[in-house]
Amino acid sequence: MIPVRGYDGHKVAVLGLGRSGRPTVAALEAGGAEVVAWDDGEAARAAAAAEGIALADLTKAKAWDGVKALIVSPGIPHLYPAPHPAVRAAWDAGVAVDNDIGLFFRSFATEAWHEFERMPSVVCITGSNGKSTTTALTAHVLAAAGRSVQVGGNIGRGVLDLDPAEDGMVVVLELSSYQIELARALQPDIAVFLNLSPDHLDRHGGMGGYFAAKRRLFAEGGPSRSIVGVDEDEGRFLANTMREEAGTGDPVIEISSGRKLDRPGWSVFARKGFLAEWRHGKQQASVDLRGMATLPGAHNHQNACAAYAVARSLGLGPRAIEPALATYPGLPHRSQLVGEWNGVRVVNDSKATNADAASRSLGSFERVRWIAGGRPKEGGIAPLRGLFPHVAKAYLIGEAAEDFALTLGEVPHVVAGTLEAAVAAAMAEAEPGDTVLLAPACASFDQFTSFEARGDRFTALVRERVG
Ligand code: ADP
Repeated sequence: MIPVRGYDGHKVAVLGLGRSGRPTVAALEAGGAEVVAWDDGEAARAAAAAEGIALADLTKAKAWDGVKALIVSPGIPHLYPAPHPAVRAAWDAGVAVDNDIGLFFRSFATEAWHEFERMPSVVCITGSNGKSTTTALTAHVLAAAGRSVQVGGNIGRGVLDLDPAEDGMVVVLELSSYQIELARALQPDIAVFLNLSPDHLDRHGGMGGYFAAKRRLFAEGGPSRSIVGVDEDEGRFLANTMREEAGTGDPVIEISSGRKLDRPGWSVFARKGFLAEWRHGKQQASVDLRGMATLPGAHNHQNACAAYAVARSLGLGPRAIEPALATYPGLPHRSQLVGEWNGVRVVNDSKATNADAASRSLGSFERVRWIAGGRPKEGGIAPLRGLFPHVAKAYLIGEAAEDFALTLGEVPHVVAGTLEAAVAAAMAEAEPGDTVLLAPACASFDQFTSFEARGDRFTALVRERVG
């Protein structure tokens, strides 16, 4: 745990008692703060009370007496589509609003640092898609090279649950736009921006707000190295700004999946299955990604470029990085091969919760029995039209089913309704050479508690059928 600094002897309120909220309470208390906490869910409150956490209804004005700060969990809206009533109450009381990421950056550095031989580093990874994969892959590459690594944030442990810094340690944090937007301190040594496509627009008041949130990672404190995906205009804009502001040296490594980046400066890009590193107009290294089974498709090659660029920034050589990329074990629910039976491949990409993510896996296979749907995102699957020739048949589930059926038009499809019915039909109708793919292009919350629960159910249903 990382004890929180700056609130010793002060009262701090914590809103949300989930995966990041509970460790936040403990870390605040370890730093000497008095904590009052709240969660809208009765079960979460009961669990917290059983752990001895003091509860107070933070939506009421009287709860704010003497409170110095409010720490909000990332799942709770602080502005759009509407602020949570407790956030409004904090504003009314003139109380500062922050999150665990802000507390982490104020608390991670300690007096012990001057005794370290090698300074600890914090790497922050954001983007619309590929954050978890890039975070896990980066940590895997660094660990394989013998570096001490911890992973946290939006993946794995809450940031304040991590262990305090050690000599030469690298902390790799996956950060969502929500986490970045609210953090009052953000000082990564290395910041990664992978890509941008529409997602979570209701929480950011539109695309501009979504980009502005992500961009804060590069504005507050200014990382000493920015690794920026330049396959969208926003990334090109960001890379250019960072280069201008930082001036000399190589403050930016540009990355791309598909484009050759051979201009002066530093770049890492993947084309036709090969990763290439260029610096000052010359190629420095090349890595063959084609045989790496856990990093299939151009999207994963983008993730590999980002992880490679982080590892290079931390002093690893290309020959140390290449074998580590090849031994990456992969993450569940991200283009995960469930198995192959009678020539039918089954892939669980439950984490494809938006159209861009789903398009990547759909584009990676030829004859797809596509299970899609759930709670829809803005724009639906219309942006995927160019990939419909890959679809042998779609099996539609959840709230989005009727709407997706309209978009699919002449493309063979059935409104299956539930995942159970969709798996039964897709598995029964699949022919050798087909891929049964769960890539919903939707959030899971209409029928499941999380994308993990959806992916686990899918895997279980498939296994029941194949015995
Ligand atoms: P995140 O943590 O950003 O949601 P993940 O690594 O969990 O990203 O991957 C989520 C889904 O997005 C995957 O299932 C895959 O379909 C897709 N994906 C992975 N990497 C990328 C990428 N670089 N660009 C676009 N889509 C990607």
